[in-house]
Amino acid sequence: MRAKKTRIKALVLFSGGLDSILAVKLLQEQDIDVTGISFVSYFFNADLAEKAAKNLNIKLKIVDFSDEHLTLVKNPHYGYGKAINPCIDCHLMMIKKTKERLEKFDFVATGEVLGERPMSQNKQALELIEKQSGLKGYLLRPLSAKLLESTIVEKQGLVNRDKLLDISGRSRKMQMVLAEKWGIKEYPTPAGGCCLTDLQFAHRFKEMLKYWPDCGGNDVLLLKLGRHFWERENLIIVGRNEQENKEIKKLSQKGDLLIEPKEFPGPSILIRSKTKILNQSLIRAKELMIKYAHKQRSIIK
Ligand code: SF4
Repeated sequence: MRAKKTRIKALVLFSGGLDSILAVKLLQEQDIDVTGISFVSYFFNADLAEKAAKNLNIKLKIVDFSDEHLTLVKNPHYGYGKAINPCIDCHLMMIKKTKERLEKFDFVATGEVLGERPMSQNKQALELIEKQSGLKGYLLRPLSAKLLESTIVEKQGLVNRDKLLDISGRSRKMQMVLAEKWGIKEYPTPAGGCCLTDLQFAHRFKEMLKYWPDCGGNDVLLLKLGRHFWERENLIIVGRNEQENKEIKKLSQKGDLLIEPKEFPGPSILIRSKTKILNQSLIRAKELMIKYAHKQRSIIK
């Protein structure tokens, strides 16, 4: 890491959530030049980060690590949270990738708050991520810094520890006060954009992993659409509205069977198999078409 001659530069892991916005603000208060870094995968995008970065007037680097992240989600070293969220591994991967881009920066910062998330933001997990990422002493958590061991950047005076905070726990009271103080009005709920924390999504994903352990990105994107039915290892997806019908069609690929009603309003139905499409799946699809076409007709009436 280079010695700083002009403005100190920080690379901040930036989701666009309130904590990461506040981490940026705290550093900006010390006239530190902040750039955000945000990640894109099959399970979350950078839309919120882009919007928030614009509001804060900071540069934002976006890194797409979809395939690598999917491999990790299937087999995390540190396990899952309540749903299918491997937060420790996921965070560690993001921080490692951030470190790879650190050349022009003095340190990395995150919006993590000690004790806010029981699995990934307890003291042990924070220390583990710092150590395993190879950023020992150069990973700053401005919102909880005063409760954590002083980092090298604080000791060297690149960051004024006195101006950092000592927030901990799940209550977001202090964050709200700061948001009010800085006039931050728009911010999403915690873990807002990540579908791995959604229990319903987790259920679908676990079911998919049972039948298709090698599932890829396109398969995972289908998890967000329609009603799902399994006939052994055949997946049948029924669109719930016109938008979903379009998206299902867009994701359909060679080997899939896409059924679209032509002369009556009804759902698009996709059947996907990793081996062969079963007769039983065709029968089920027909039943589902009758059931949901009928429902769509009653909505139209
Ligand atoms: S909530 Fe989602 S994006 Fe955030 S660390 Fe957990 S798995 Fe990763």
